[in-house]
Amino acid sequence: MDGGEDSQSERRAARVVAENSLKYTTDNIIRCPLPGCDSKGHITGKYDKHRTLSACPLYHNMSVDECKARLLDREIVSEKRKTTAPDDRRGLRNKAATSEQQEYHRKVMEERSKFKVEMSEELQEQHSQHRDLYQMTREPLLTGLTTEFDLKLFREAQIQACEELSYEMTAHYQLSDKQEYRICKMEMGRYEMETWYASPYPEEYSRLPKIYICEYCLKYMKTSVITRRHAAKCVWRHPPGDEIYRKGNLSVFEVDGKKNKIYCQNLCLLAKLFLDHKTLYYDVEPFLFYIMTEADNQGCHMVGYFSKEKQSFLNYNVSCILTMPAYMRKGYGKMLIDFSYLLTRMENKVGSPERPLSDLGLISYRSYWKDVLLNYLNCCKERDISIKDLSQETGINANDIVSTLQAMGMLKYWKGKHLILKKQDLIDEHLKRKSLKKLDENQVIDPSCLKWTPHVSVQ
Ligand SMILES: [Zn+2]
Ligand SMILES: [Zn+2]
Repeated sequence: MDGGEDSQSERRAARVVAENSLKYTTDNIIRCPLPGCDSKGHITGKYDKHRTLSACPLYHNMSVDECKARLLDREIVSEKRKTTAPDDRRGLRNKAATSEQQEYHRKVMEERSKFKVEMSEELQEQHSQHRDLYQMTREPLLTGLTTEFDLKLFREAQIQACEELSYEMTAHYQLSDKQEYRICKMEMGRYEMETWYASPYPEEYSRLPKIYICEYCLKYMKTSVITRRHAAKCVWRHPPGDEIYRKGNLSVFEVDGKKNKIYCQNLCLLAKLFLDHKTLYYDVEPFLFYIMTEADNQGCHMVGYFSKEKQSFLNYNVSCILTMPAYMRKGYGKMLIDFSYLLTRMENKVGSPERPLSDLGLISYRSYWKDVLLNYLNCCKERDISIKDLSQETGINANDIVSTLQAMGMLKYWKGKHLILKKQDLIDEHLKRKSLKKLDENQVIDPSCLKWTPHVSVQ
């Protein structure tokens, strides 16, 4: 327990600061998300107002006064402990229990051994009425399910967890310059990332300073404890759906928004933390999601994804695209784009990403289009190049080709015709850059590794 005392007192001091500031911020507009709750009271019994479900007396089927009474009880117990406990706490763990403690222990064990979940009809009726009335919006009634002692223990643990959380939230609130609640950090697998934008997670989550996400099933959670517990139980090791591409340790999974709705919704919520314009979160059924993963002996780790409408009348081949921040600047974005065009070519189509693109998205696409065109021009020995052929062969929409050529200064309009000006210096520079950038062979999309037939939608 080296330094344990120190960090404990530090934490206690920090909590006092947070508690004090909580007193001054109770007037703010943030209210408890529970419908019908007036935000009065606090499960800890310490404050007049609350703003989260975990602190809501009503949610826990308690009155404001009950919470205050419980606080009083707890204070009496801890006072008593203070006066009876010896000053010297060293070696406390190995000390034999006092006769008083032994007596208490015996009583609890007896109560536990005698306890049976045998509820009177009246109590059962009460429980089921409560369930029918409040569904998932309230905590189920807990009376009669366990011994008084265990119920009290559970309540105390709840209160402690709530105190931890409200301390964190207050600290978070003080730090955020806009004085608004937004998830600022996200932990997923072995990475913790700063998030960039607000995402419409359910209110209880969207106010947290940090959100935890299972990297395999994408379930979102409030605390590291819950996350560890989930990780021990979660059986997923890769995205759902079909693995349609594999080369080395790199795979792409195709996930149908209709068949794996929750997963895809969670994916959209997660993506929104890093995308500005995204508007799709819950209506995922008309979309397919392509998740790129990198495998190790633990499982398949998501490096990025793109979504695509099953039927796009405007021939969009990508709706949303994201490389996970931990995997950015490593060529994955370009691979995702390349993969999306590979699918488009397999469908005998040309496509374009849905607008507006994010800033990062636009940069990646511009650089991808440029690379593809320069490669093409380098290999092409013919004099006449038709943009239509170019488009057909690459899957890139003609407008995107024209705008890219224009940006490179390789398109000239002359005597009513568009002419491509083959700038050899640009091509040479491109080839030089390419040879310098020694890419791992797995970091290039290899069409022969695709096992996929185009999605045929039922009309
Ligand atoms: Zn409430
Ligand atoms: Zn999971």
